[in-house]
Formats: sequence, C-alpha cells, structure tokens
Amino acid sequence: MFTLYHRYAELPDTLWADCRPTPAVAPSLIVFNTALARELGMDEQPDDATLADYFSGSAPLPGARPMALGYAGHQFGHFVPRLGDGRALLLGEVVDADGRRRDIQLKGSGRTPYSRGGDGRAPLGPVLREYLVSEAMAAMGIPTTRALAAVATGEQVMRMPAEPGAVITRVASSHLRVGTFQFAAARGDKKALRALVEHAIERHFPAVKSHDGNARYLAFFDAVMRRQAYLVARWMGVGFIHGVMNTDNASIAGETIDYGPCAFMEAFEPDKVFSSIDQGGRYAFARQPAMAQWNLARLAECLLMLMDGKENALVEEATAALRRFDEVFAEERRKVSADKLGLAAESECATPLMEALENVMQRGKMDMTATFDALYHLAADPGEARRDALLALGEAPGEVVQWLERWQGEQTAGHSAERLAAMRRANPVIIPRNHRVQEAISAAEDGDYQPFYTLLAAVIAPFDDTANARRLAAPATADERVLRTFC
Ligand code: AMP
Ligand code: MG
Ligand code: MG
Repeated sequence: MFTLYHRYAELPDTLWADCRPTPAVAPSLIVFNTALARELGMDEQPDDATLADYFSGSAPLPGARPMALGYAGHQFGHFVPRLGDGRALLLGEVVDADGRRRDIQLKGSGRTPYSRGGDGRAPLGPVLREYLVSEAMAAMGIPTTRALAAVATGEQVMRMPAEPGAVITRVASSHLRVGTFQFAAARGDKKALRALVEHAIERHFPAVKSHDGNARYLAFFDAVMRRQAYLVARWMGVGFIHGVMNTDNASIAGETIDYGPCAFMEAFEPDKVFSSIDQGGRYAFARQPAMAQWNLARLAECLLMLMDGKENALVEEATAALRRFDEVFAEERRKVSADKLGLAAESECATPLMEALENVMQRGKMDMTATFDALYHLAADPGEARRDALLALGEAPGEVVQWLERWQGEQTAGHSAERLAAMRRANPVIIPRNHRVQEAISAAEDGDYQPFYTLLAAVIAPFDDTANARRLAAPATADERVLRTFC
C-alpha cells in the first residue's frame, strides 16, 4: 500500500524497541484520509475491512517494522527520564509527493516496553478529538501531525467509566521531540545524542550541514527554535491551547503534536485553561510562548553536553541563542497579527493594534473566532450592517468603536484583493469548538458517527462560508459550554 522505510532503526538500539501491536477484537473503520494517503504515495486503496485491520494493528501493514520510540520528558516541570511510546508504534516512514520523509504511527494499539502502568489503549473520544483538531489545524495552514485513519477496536477500554476503544493513525514529519534528546542525555549517552542530532539535521534542517563543531549544534538549536516560534505564534492567532506542552510533546520539526486535552478559546481570556490536568495554569493560553522557550532551554541543556569549550562561555552562548526566541516570536506574532487584522504585511503597528483588540475582546467577553470573522467581513464589505454585527459580539461596544477608528486608518485589506485574501486565510470561519467536538464524540460513543463526519467536513474547509459551516461555527451558548477537557 505504501513504500515504507526504517531509517529510525539505524539509530542506536537504546533509542527504540521492536514491538508488535496487539490485534483488536473486532476492528471497524471509522474514517480513512484518502487524500492524505495519496499524498503519502498510496498505490491502491485496500477495502475498508483491510484498512481496519492494518490501522488497528490487527494485520501487519505490508513493509511495516513496528517499533516503540524511547523518550524522556519534563511533565508539568518534573523530569521523567523514561517515558517513550507507551501506546504508540512507529510503522515506518514514507517519502511523500514533495520528497519529504514522514512517519506513520499507530496510537492505541496495545502495550509496549514503555507502557509502565498503562494499558496501551486509547478511548474513542480522544481519538476523534485528535482526528478533528489535527485535520482542522492542517486545513488552517498550521504545522501539525496529520490523521490518516481512525478505527474502532470493538473493545472497551477501562476508564472511569469504561469507554469504547479506538486506534488513530498519525502522520508526522518525525516523532523527534525535545524529550527524545533528553532520553539520551539523561543516560549520559553522547553517542546516541550525537546520532539523534545528525538524524534530525539530515531529516529537517539540511542547511545546518554546512556548519561544524559547536556552530553545528548552535545552528541546529536556532533552526528548532525558529520552528517553535513560528508554530506557537500561529496557535496564538487562532486561540489554540495545546494543554500539555511537556518536553515530550515538543516536536523538533515544529509541528503541533500530541493532541490531548487541547481546545480552542472562545471568549478571549489570556489565562484560559481547559485541561483537567493543568491545575496550576502552567500551559494557559498566554503562557504558551514562554513554555515553548522553557522547553527549548531543556533542548539547549542536552546540546551543551556535546559542545567543546569552557562551560561558562558555552552556557553564555546557548543562553544568547535561547533569548533570540523573544525576537523571533515577536516578529512571527507581528506577521500573524498583520494578516489577521488585514494590515500591510510589513505593518509596524500590527502588534500594538492586536494587543489593543485583545484587551477590548477580553473586557467585552468577545468570542475570538467570531470577532475576527466579523472584522474580515467589515474589511470586505464596509457599512453599518457589518459594523453592527461586530459590535453585537461583546459587552463593551463603545471600546470596539474606539478601536475601529484606529484600525480603519491602518487596514489595507479593504483596498487590496491580495491582503483581503490573506486576511481570510488568517481568520477561519470555523474552528472545532469544544461543544461541537463533544457532541460528535458523545454521538459516536452511542454508535452514531454522522455528527463526527459532518463536523469533520466543515472543519477541514475552515474558510468556506456556507450555511452548514455557520451553524457549526456558532459559539457555545451558556448551557452548551464545555469547561474542562480530558485526555
Ligand atoms: P501524553 O500525556 O499523551 O503525552 O503521554 C505521556 C506518556 O504516557 C507517554 O509516554 C505515553 O506513551 C504514556 N501513556 C499515555 N497513555 C497511556 C496508556 N493508556 N498506556 C500506556 N502508556 C500511556
Ligand atoms: Mg505525549
Ligand atoms: Mg497524549
């Protein structure tokens, strides 16, 4: 079905473990991403029963060599030297239509040598959430792992209460995480650490190959840092809250990875947290850039082990490299803000105008997605009706009016088709809202997948302004609102 490669197996065998998936009792296909499979080089699409077997781990995908990858991680700030794929298996790598190497991984396919106390299983709800949200992110143009398939296992997984089980097949540019480097570093295994750096450079950052010695590690670090800054700026632009930004969930390739209790903010609130496990608000919306930088500091610590020279001088150099995150992030945020607000691409007032609007949204309890969508419409079609629609979104319309006066003088989207198109692409009509995701999950748990299919179709076309999208895009009413998410 795919031509699979296994370059990860060439890394030292302390970094991974061969492991077979546990077959499911009665696998049945929920969804298969044919468009993505074609992009990954699928020759012929097998029938649904065969797909269900392959992508639940019940029959071997031809050419696969399943393995669990080792990694460590700082979980909510506490270091755990041995995590690893406790319920996931890498099947192999494909080379996609653009020549990019990508991993195919099962998640929920049974216990592995890294399972510790876990059952290796995934409940249906989180599988469907990951499918919806990762595909929505991809459609919005935000770097992310993709979803290739979801299969119901026909088994119950023991949670409180028991839930139906499922397996998701995830596609990633790679599964290298900050925690992968920490795994080798924690054992003092410089050989493995060096091999990981070279593997990552080869796979993601070939330009770094022109550097040697310490400069090579610093250039590698800089490249990872830039991807993280780019990514988190895009999250902030759509109100995405990852929820568990532990170092094991920080992708070296700069993709959004490991969709657990993630959610999109509705009313703008910098301190917003949804995850039931984030009690201290460590990964609150506005803390995400700082947390990405914190994770990068942990990567820098690993790389220092490989660098030659006086400790103090090296630490200073690494610290300077880490501080550059602030500037790179600020520039990414400025670009995102310019697009979202329909300003000139190089506009210097994008950030201050965005900050002012965020304050207005916060005080007026305005839904973030609806506000930017309304602003887009006002740029496209200025007039009383569009203006009133925007003002109606919040509790402090007077402040919106004041802000609009500043914006009106700066915005260019109203005069340029190109800037207007960029503004649309930066402001989705629809995001996978919590209550809609929850509604789709609840119906699926009762055996009705239709709400999931309908929602999926809408969120993978996030800029299509259709009646169906509008219906599913509406913010939650007070009694629909989901306050907590679980993984
Ligand atoms: P996560 O919170 O999904 O990033 O996972 C953190 C760690 O816990 C990773 O090492 C996972 O593989 C592991 N893990 C999570 N759920 C399970 C499970 N049901 N069985 C085994 N390991 C798990
Ligand atoms: Mg994880
Ligand atoms: Mg997870």
